[in-house]
Amino acid sequence: MDLHDNPEQASFRAELRQWLADNLPAGWGKTVREPDDPEALVAFLKQWQLKLYEGGWAGLDWPSEYGGRGASLAESMIFGEEYALADAPNMINMSVGAALVGPTLIACGSDEQKRRFLEPVLKGEDIWCQGFSEPGAGSDLASLRTRADLEGDHFVVNGQKTWTSFAHHSQWCILVVRTDPESERHRGLSFLLVDMNSPGITVRPLKEMTGHEWFNEVFFDQVSVPRENLVGELHQGWNVVMTTLAHERGSSSQHARLALQLDRLAQAAREPRADGSRAADDPLVRQRLADFAGRMMILRMSAWRHASTLDAGGVPGAEGSTLKILWSELDQEVKSAAIDLLGPRAMIPAGDPDAVDEGYWAYELLWSRAATIYAGTSEVQRNIIANRVLGLPRR
Ligand SMILES: Cc1cc2nc3c(=O)[nH]c(=O)nc-3n(C[C@H](O)[C@H](O)[C@H](O)COP(=O)(O)OP(=O)(O)OC[C@H]3O[C@@H](n4cnc5c(N)ncnc54)[C@H](O)[C@@H]3O)c2cc1C
Repeated sequence: MDLHDNPEQASFRAELRQWLADNLPAGWGKTVREPDDPEALVAFLKQWQLKLYEGGWAGLDWPSEYGGRGASLAESMIFGEEYALADAPNMINMSVGAALVGPTLIACGSDEQKRRFLEPVLKGEDIWCQGFSEPGAGSDLASLRTRADLEGDHFVVNGQKTWTSFAHHSQWCILVVRTDPESERHRGLSFLLVDMNSPGITVRPLKEMTGHEWFNEVFFDQVSVPRENLVGELHQGWNVVMTTLAHERGSSSQHARLALQLDRLAQAAREPRADGSRAADDPLVRQRLADFAGRMMILRMSAWRHASTLDAGGVPGAEGSTLKILWSELDQEVKSAAIDLLGPRAMIPAGDPDAVDEGYWAYELLWSRAATIYAGTSEVQRNIIANRVLGLPRR
């Protein structure tokens, strides 16, 4: 693995850097940031997504026949790094629409589904949510109970999903349901595309400890879904789920944004505090930051190694689990260290005149708690490594 850009990669990096400089709003990151109001934020992010699409930067790794750029994994990694360096806005629906729905439909969808759904994802016109987890089925997804009965040309869906990110802003949902009532576990499941405006759907946002509403409970009461919205074969939805999850766990560019946050923390440690001292004067603080910097490098190397394996024709697998643990646990430690270094005032949330750095670290600390849960908990990732890498027996 060579970590230096080859000539094509260097020109790709330069083109992207220039495009971001030309297209981010004037004063971005200094006087201008995303709006706070949730509705205004969604409108802003949709506009930004359209700009990315028009500039040829949406669906980077999707094949060009589906509106993507057909970029290599190395280019996707470069994109993640440059995008984080520019501190560009989070891409709306990246984690579900572009990262999960697109690749799943490209691999398993019908021609009509590809024609109808793919381009609006890249343009940010259709926002998608992921209806997998239920109150009794998270890590153990195969125990899900939401039911869909096939009645003529449509399914009738009843049940409940939970932790459904962005459902309150979504037009569509990828929904896993039990279509064979006699079945158990992963047999007898099906994968549906559900219009979130269908009668019988109730979305109830859950307020998190950050104070924001990100995920939701979603209730389905006699919801009608046309049969043509079935992805893959009836009762064979688990194969489609596996395609989706392989993409969810294969993500490998989060390190770039965390590296930027670590720089921001090191900078904050150099700033004089109220009593004139600086956190960075303390050798233990310097050691802690140096330890993070070393682990950041390991994380970056691991992310590139993961990308190289995939580029060489491998499938996302156990390396993805290692990366997820490394990243999510370092993320939590960096955010906790920020509060230790900056003092208890750093916990004051945004909007309060006493907040440090406009409540940035308070929000980041609270949000980071989710990182070891979503996209497979740390315990589940360790089980994968134990079974598939170390060959330890299952109990
Ligand atoms: C911010 C956030 C966003 C999310 N967004 C979505 C979304 O959009 N769509 C969606 O469908 N889901 C979403 N989820 C749900 C997420 O996928 C689940 O929370 C996750 O799979 C864990 O399931 P659970 O919460 O039911 O916990 P459980 O599976 O009940 O786990 C509880 C605890 O037991 C441990 N555990 C479970 N099984 C094992 C085992 N076999 N061995 C050892 N330990 C085990 C877990 O690690 C955990 O600590 C989101 C979660 C978060 C935090």
